[in-house]
Amino acid sequence: MSGFRQLLRNTPEGLYCPPGDFHIDPVRPVPHAVITHGHSDHARSGHGTVLATSETLAIMAARHGEDFAAGSQAARYGEKISRGGVGVTLVPAGHVLGSAQAVLRWKDITAVISGDYKRRHDPTCPPFEPVACNLFVSEATFGLPVFHFPNAADEVARLLKSVALFPQRTHLVGAYALGKAQRIIALLRQAGYERTLYVHGALASMNALYQAHGVALGRLAPATDAARNALPGEIVIAPPSAIADKWARRFADPIPAFASGWMMVRARARQRHVELPLVVSDHADWDELTLTAGELKPEELWITHGNEEALLRWAALNSIPATALEIAGYEDEEE
Ligand SMILES: [Zn+2]
Ligand SMILES: [Zn+2]
Repeated sequence: MSGFRQLLRNTPEGLYCPPGDFHIDPVRPVPHAVITHGHSDHARSGHGTVLATSETLAIMAARHGEDFAAGSQAARYGEKISRGGVGVTLVPAGHVLGSAQAVLRWKDITAVISGDYKRRHDPTCPPFEPVACNLFVSEATFGLPVFHFPNAADEVARLLKSVALFPQRTHLVGAYALGKAQRIIALLRQAGYERTLYVHGALASMNALYQAHGVALGRLAPATDAARNALPGEIVIAPPSAIADKWARRFADPIPAFASGWMMVRARARQRHVELPLVVSDHADWDELTLTAGELKPEELWITHGNEEALLRWAALNSIPATALEIAGYEDEEE
């Protein structure tokens, strides 16, 4: 792991920057944390201080309570902050609202920690900004060549086609509470769907937080109707665990759908009793991972978590020295 280890190293708590004395997305409580985004595996509570975008801080407060850390500092995208002589800048990662790459500048080294990221269009957050660097630390959740995601707008069009085809049935769309649910809603609006969208109570607080940050989601209503055969012909957005749950039985002959990159894997769709798999991911697919690493051409590529094997092989073929950090504690995608 070379000379870059003076600036950044892997510890049991996660990535650590010795000269700046802070961790990035630590998986255990630490004195000083820089947090890339609000997903619960990256944004844990109990740290001494947290540096993050104001959106990420708001998400952490909504999920863990206002006392999620002893102290916090909000950074605007692009703002230059100094920590023990290390320049820290947060740059859009295109993953979810407030998501950022952490750009560290120290001596003549620029290191970019991508956090989770994607390169695709997302109406709910600014797009990923590539930053030239010596060291690129990437995720690899979907780091296999089989993962080539379709256009998200086309997946949403398939959903709307199914709604038109089955007007007596409720379409029940499983989507993660932070990011995916709001992106699906925003994509439905972009596709011209203006009807009320019904949402499970577990999604309400994140929807409200997105709206408070200026993300237009249109008309939403709680999916609380307990009557039999509720909401025929309507779309209900719910956490993935709810779509095949007892909760789902109240709806009119529901069609369980699930929006996730994992829906490319048929076995996963079957396992969750998904009738309408929608391949919509907030992570980079194989093409995006290799496009990004190829575009940045770092002197070294470190991979935090996910499917690293193929990416290591790809890096070797492209003469980029690469290392798998195998950080324990990050999930495939949050529930
Ligand atoms: Zn994430
Ligand atoms: Zn992650």
